[in-house]
Amino acid sequence: MHDSASSAPTTLAPRRPLTGGSQRSNGQWKVDGTTPLNGNEAWKQEDGGLSVRERIESTYSRLGFDSIDPTDLHGRFRWWGLYTQRKPGIDGGKTATLEPEELEDKYFMLRVRIDGGQLSTEQLRVIGGISTEFARDSADLTDRQNIQLHWIRVEDVPEIWRRLEGVGLGTTEACGDVPRVVLGSPVAGIAADELIDPTPAIAAITERYIGDPELANLPRKFKTALTGHPSQDVVHEINDVAFVAVEHPELGVGYDLWVGGGLSTAPRLAERLGVFVEPDRVAEAWYGVTAIFRDYGYRRLRNKARLKFLLADWGTEKFRQVLEDEYLDAPLPDGPAAPTPTTPGDHIGVHRQKDGAFYIGVTPIVGRISGSGLTRLAEILEENGSRRLRTTPHQKLVLLDIPEHRVETVIAAVDEIGLSARPSAFRRSTIACTGLEYCKLAIVETKAAATRAVGELEKRLAGIELPAPISLHVNGCPNSCARIQTADIGLKGQLLPDGNGGQTPGFQVHLGGGLASSDRAEPGLGRTIRGLKVTTTDLPDYVERLVHRFLKDRENEETFA
Ligand code: SF4
Repeated sequence: MHDSASSAPTTLAPRRPLTGGSQRSNGQWKVDGTTPLNGNEAWKQEDGGLSVRERIESTYSRLGFDSIDPTDLHGRFRWWGLYTQRKPGIDGGKTATLEPEELEDKYFMLRVRIDGGQLSTEQLRVIGGISTEFARDSADLTDRQNIQLHWIRVEDVPEIWRRLEGVGLGTTEACGDVPRVVLGSPVAGIAADELIDPTPAIAAITERYIGDPELANLPRKFKTALTGHPSQDVVHEINDVAFVAVEHPELGVGYDLWVGGGLSTAPRLAERLGVFVEPDRVAEAWYGVTAIFRDYGYRRLRNKARLKFLLADWGTEKFRQVLEDEYLDAPLPDGPAAPTPTTPGDHIGVHRQKDGAFYIGVTPIVGRISGSGLTRLAEILEENGSRRLRTTPHQKLVLLDIPEHRVETVIAAVDEIGLSARPSAFRRSTIACTGLEYCKLAIVETKAAATRAVGELEKRLAGIELPAPISLHVNGCPNSCARIQTADIGLKGQLLPDGNGGQTPGFQVHLGGGLASSDRAEPGLGRTIRGLKVTTTDLPDYVERLVHRFLKDRENEETFA
């Protein structure tokens, strides 16, 4: 199925010549027309990403990896959550010099989309089973509530889809220039102190719009988050569109609408539009913001194509006006800002639910678990009377519906599979991206480096009381998948001089970032400290020194940020 016609806006401006005019086209469909301005835009219009599924099922899975058309392989496969993974043994120095085909293996990373992070134990067993059978027992929790598997062969993809879809899961638009997974509060409908349950709003968005060809050709990826919890637990400031629960003095509880956040190489925090969205208008408002991005987003240069660049040029006032005038049935009322959170948004530890049972937030180290670990976790939950759990945007899990007398039994059992409900400060607040192990863009290894750092810091700083956890976010390149700029200590992978004329893996250090949910009064992006770089080997020493210095020089209630 070709989606090029249906993915264009219904009312188009006339096509404008790209040369000879004084103003250069940014590729905004409603302003400049839909003529593609780069190769990526051309293939997306010619034959959209969703259409590749049919070819995977009918041809590629039968004939194998070498039969895959290169544009499908490096483009359209992403619309179904599939990326080729990095060939083992290629060091980070070659990332920029080799061609993509020289870097890639004949295996895929498969991203399972988990909107709102909501999983049943039945679904968990299916993912665990797929991992052990088809993915060499790999499974990583991502910081966008997905689970990623590796070592997937194209031959196995149709069977994997059949199993996932049999339990209501899937990989539709898990990657690509589309509305990605919708982040949702991991305690939606559960927490006693929740303002509103965002689950119906998340379902309204995903059921209506995910897989809809009308929204399947956006200028770039598009990230969404919704929370009804006062801890604001979905990192809303770095999403393209976000809805944060707030109480309006006359209209009751609804959502504060944020737009235009994003990290990577030009980080920008989202901004409030100053409107109040009533719960039954969330899907309409979400569609409006997404359609603005589709119709007005910049498509000429991919590195300028995120919504944040349009917002930077328009400002919030114009953005709101266009949203209300061109995309909504009626204007949105003005709305208040949600209060700054006073509790951390990672939900680690034991908490009472609104129905009297308990939820337990647990963490592996840097999101790494295994297929057999997921299957065992499903068994533990079911043995203890629970059939539900959530993934979180912090590479963690929240186990739901645990009866009070089973809490300690569950904590002890999950500890045996590497999930801690009472982690050290560093295990709790360290996350890491995929890195050199599987990622073709990586310059340095991340997961093992972060795991080693956590282990060393637990030993060296044992007994030291930190006023608040210090977050460590380890990234294998500037793309910031593990949110470099929102950590107390953000690390951006790069190669550093080794002192002998060669290079060694290491990181550029960013300090002092944090979001509202991370125990700071005002969210802010971390600053690059010029010249401050640390090798992977020296990482534990560096963090240890920094912590000692912070504790020694800290004045009154001063936080690390
Ligand atoms: Fe890959 Fe870079 Fe993203 Fe890490 S930050 S997963 S290395 S693209």
